[in-house]
Amino acid sequence: MDCVFCNIAAGKIPSTIVYQDKEIMAFRDIHPVAATHILIIPRRHIGSLVDIKTGDLPLISRMVDTANKLAKQEGVSEKGYRLVINSGKEGGQLVQHLHMHLIGGRKLADALG
Ligand code: 5GP
Ligand code: ZN
Repeated sequence: MDCVFCNIAAGKIPSTIVYQDKEIMAFRDIHPVAATHILIIPRRHIGSLVDIKTGDLPLISRMVDTANKLAKQEGVSEKGYRLVINSGKEGGQLVQHLHMHLIGGRKLADALG
């Protein structure tokens, strides 16, 4: 499967990595919408939210924990930040490999549209 985030996880496509371990990788979004815009992904291919199995939940928790630690590292913890997972066509998902956006560093608009 030709998946851009699998290729990033494998190091075949370069990215600005801010965190990695054997399960998770975090790198800067190529088109940042704010001063802090990091994508947190599982290294293993999971397509979207609907593909998450019960057994994946510890991994998802670790992604949230990693995002929170990165928010602290980026200095946005106190002022506030947002974690976003787009899923499916109507959810605005463009890359079909589960990813969490960590966005911060400016006052964000109401995103519940
Ligand atoms: P989505 O709309 O699927 O939630 O978000 C996909 C995100 O991936 C977008 O914010 C886009 O800028 C980012 N992106 C797409 N391709 C690449 C890439 O090759 N490298 C990096 N660093 N980000 C990418
Ligand atoms: Zn993938």
